[in-house]
Amino acid sequence: MRVASPHLYGLSSAHLVEYCGFLLETETAVAFEKMRIAAAKDGITLEICSAFRDFERQQHIWNAKASGKRVLLDSDSKPVDINEKTPEQIIALILLWSALPGTSRHHWGTDIDVFDSNAISKDKLQLVPQEYASNGPCHQLYIWLVQNAQQFGFYFPFQQGLSGVSPEPWHLSYLPVSTGFLNSFDTQTLRKILQDSSVLYKESLFNNLEGLAQEYVFRVAPAPL
Ligand SMILES: [Zn+2]
Repeated sequence: MRVASPHLYGLSSAHLVEYCGFLLETETAVAFEKMRIAAAKDGITLEICSAFRDFERQQHIWNAKASGKRVLLDSDSKPVDINEKTPEQIIALILLWSALPGTSRHHWGTDIDVFDSNAISKDKLQLVPQEYASNGPCHQLYIWLVQNAQQFGFYFPFQQGLSGVSPEPWHLSYLPVSTGFLNSFDTQTLRKILQDSSVLYKESLFNNLEGLAQEYVFRVAPAPL
C-alpha cells in the first residue's frame, strides 16, 4: 500500500536525524539543543527519555494490552480484568495510557518525553504526574519549562481538560513543525493503514475512527500565543 506522507503515521523515519541516541525531526533537534543549553545555565539537566516510536512498536504495545499479555490499567493505575470488558471498553482503557497505532505524535520526531537526569535516574523514572508535581524530582524542570519552553518553540500538548490524551507534564512538542503535521493528518489515510495492519479490535475501532481521531489526535491544548 502506498501512503501519502508516511511519516505522519509512523511508517517512515526518513525525515529524522540522530540526536544523543534518539531520532528527532531536524529542526526539533536544533531547537532542543538550544533549550538544553539554556536550561543547563539555570542548573537544570534537561534530557530526553523517549522520542521516536514507529508504527510497528505502537502496534506491539497495543496488541499486548488488547490481548491481555500486558497489564491494562484504569485511570487510577489499577489493573483491569479484560475478560469482563467489551472491545469498546478495552479500547477506551488502552487509550488512557497508549496511543492508537499510527496516531502517536512521537513518530513525528517533533515530540519528546523529557526529565531531569540530575534529579532522577532514567531507570527509576516512571513518567507519572507526581514526579513533575511539587516535591517531585522533576518539578523544578517542569516549572522551568513552563516559563521558558515557549521561547524555543516547545509546548505541552497534553494538559488537563484541554486534550483527549491524559495530561503528560513530561511531553513536549516542537510547534513550528508539529502544527503542520497535525494539520496534514488525515483520518481516512489512518483507516487504510489500520485496515492493512494486524492491530487488534480493528472492527470496533472503525465504528468510531472519526470520533477517536478527533479526541486523541486533534484535541490537544491550544498553542500558546
Ligand atoms: Zn510522550
